[in-house]
Amino acid sequence: MKDQVIEYDVVIIGSGAGGGTVAKELADLCEKGFKVALLESGGEFKKTDNTREEVPMASRYYVDNGGVQTSSQDMTLAFAEAVGGSTTVYTGTSLEMEKHVIDKWNVEGITEEDLRPRYVKYRKENNVHLNPPEEINENNRLFFEACQNLGWKVDQFPVNTKNCQGLGTCNLGCAVHAKQGTNVVQIPMALSKGVKLITHCEVDRIDGHEVIARVKQKDHWNQLEVGVYRFKAKKIIVSAGAINSPAILMRSGFNHQALGRYFTCHPALIIAAEHENEIDNIEGHPKSYYCDEFLASKKFLLETCIYFPFTLSKSLCGFGKNVDEMIGNFHHLQMILALISDEPKDYNRVAIDDNGKPMVHYRFDEQNITSFVESIKASAKIFFASGAKRVHAPGMKDFFIYPEQIDQIDELIHEKYFKLGKVSISAAHLMGGCRMGTDQSNSVTNPWGKVHGTDHIYVADASLFPFASEVNPYLTIMAVSDRVAEGVKKELL
Ligand SMILES: Cc1cc2nc3c(=O)[nH]c(=O)nc-3n(C[C@H](O)[C@H](O)[C@H](O)COP(=O)(O)OP(=O)(O)OC[C@H]3O[C@@H](n4cnc5c(N)ncnc54)[C@H](O)[C@@H]3O)c2cc1C
Repeated sequence: MKDQVIEYDVVIIGSGAGGGTVAKELADLCEKGFKVALLESGGEFKKTDNTREEVPMASRYYVDNGGVQTSSQDMTLAFAEAVGGSTTVYTGTSLEMEKHVIDKWNVEGITEEDLRPRYVKYRKENNVHLNPPEEINENNRLFFEACQNLGWKVDQFPVNTKNCQGLGTCNLGCAVHAKQGTNVVQIPMALSKGVKLITHCEVDRIDGHEVIARVKQKDHWNQLEVGVYRFKAKKIIVSAGAINSPAILMRSGFNHQALGRYFTCHPALIIAAEHENEIDNIEGHPKSYYCDEFLASKKFLLETCIYFPFTLSKSLCGFGKNVDEMIGNFHHLQMILALISDEPKDYNRVAIDDNGKPMVHYRFDEQNITSFVESIKASAKIFFASGAKRVHAPGMKDFFIYPEQIDQIDELIHEKYFKLGKVSISAAHLMGGCRMGTDQSNSVTNPWGKVHGTDHIYVADASLFPFASEVNPYLTIMAVSDRVAEGVKKELL
């Protein structure tokens, strides 16, 4: 039987930070008679889906439970498959790139003057604000006070919640839709203007002006029978995220030299310390402060965080009694997320296997390892300045270090103990692979997201980033996707 062909003017693939933004921006076209479809391989995340059970929730919305392994198996990658993409499970911290990072991108037209108004637009649309002091829990407050006592630069994260009830389960999907992800803000706006959402629709490839996709199941948003469809469109926008956008283009036969390459991801460590008394750690927004004291000099950023027992236990190095004790004392734990600012390398890349399935190849270099080790030392200093009775971190001589050992920190936390494969490294800020630029030898799209050598295929998501954002990326993804949508609109009208 021949695949059924369905015609649209614009087809957007993926509904995360990038695709959700584009759908909303192009929704006005529907009022002018254009037909716009948003194809999403996941289903709708409903408030009632959040049962507050960590493992079932993780397996429901994260790809591979949030633990997609790189080929060398020394890092896992977290991203979601759902309407709203990874914005359903993000924490909602909302930072803008600094000018020196925008300049480093060196993409024609992507300047402060271009990006700042777009940031302002999405800060407003997604209710970005600072939480008042009474909503900040002890895990966060301890970090802030310790950084101040150490004389380190510490700032409060703007966050994008509305009517937050402090449930603390942001990373399992919000049970009250307080986080203003694209599933809560941009996609409903797009649908109200006539954009057609087709859920459970997994795109395989692009063939000329046709997007070939398999509908996996029917639901409220999608009445198509299970099967393969060809969605024909004048303009096709690929917003499937930094792993799947390059993979879709590769399966479609594109072979730009830079395709899939220059992947960055802010590799991260979860580091925990135990206090004598219980501390208030799971209620309230999990992420209120960040310390960028060492971002320029040592290439790492420290953020407050709290991860539930399943995620935490896979981050601890070791087995047995020590691990049991830490998990058993969960309510005594203070946590820090250390993120490395990684540089784009052509060998860090997304590739596809013989079945077209994406695989990420990522190799840590000496600078990354040094940054990790320095970030652990800095975290230990924060924990002890907060009054912790013992600290556990990867890359240490023993499972715990104690306050009285602080003078020996350079010996106890050392590169010789930081063994790849034995330490648990994860990443959730996946960027690059379809980088923007003008030089076709090291970019995949032009500065407006249009794939080099085509006149109708665009990319609009984190894969466009030529360099890592150095800070949490979602606002920048929305800003660059807004720019791509502006270009597409101009071409259509
Ligand atoms: C746990 C976690 C916490 C985070 N916290 C923050 C934070 O606090 N602040 C911040 O700035 N960033 C945060 N991030 C990062 C942020 O969420 C992502 O950078 C951002 O959502 C990426 O946007 P994107 O559009 O590139 O991809 P995504 O948002 O991942 O969207 C891609 C979409 O494409 C769909 N898709 C993929 N393949 C196909 C296909 N073949 N066919 C159809 N659809 C497809 C996916 O299902 C998905 O919906 C966090 C991420 C995670 C995982």
